[in-house]
Amino acid sequence: MTQDCIFCRIKSGDIPSEMLFMDDLSFVIRDINPVAPIHLLIIPIEHVTDISTSSQDQFDLLSHLMMVAKRMVDRHKDLTDNGWRLVINQGRFSGQEIPHLHLHILGGQKLGPIA
Ligand code: 5GP
Ligand code: ZN
Repeated sequence: MTQDCIFCRIKSGDIPSEMLFMDDLSFVIRDINPVAPIHLLIIPIEHVTDISTSSQDQFDLLSHLMMVAKRMVDRHKDLTDNGWRLVINQGRFSGQEIPHLHLHILGGQKLGPIA
């Protein structure tokens, strides 16, 4: 938990947000500023800033987040029928706004090219 982190504050209930899914490692909310008709954020409860390859724990966490993403996709017929995109922004050049690891699920319309 980091007091100045928006996602940590959402998790603690300090900033209200509808929880679409929650388990012991992660939670899912709608993006406040969606760039597609379906725009969900899969967020680890732990305040992880960067993807690293150095720990088995993080490997397990990333696998878990991917599995949660697929579970959320399976709840939306439009996504399973027509496709979807998974995005992770990392660092300044990606445009990352919140330095707490998260996956974006995008869909609900034909998406433009990446980048
Ligand atoms: P990033 O650019 O870091 O990959 O994505 C951060 C995302 O968090 C952005 O798409 C932004 O719209 C979203 N976001 C920022 N603040 C809030 C908030 O308070 N609530 C929710 N639900 N999403 C937020
Ligand atoms: Zn955080």
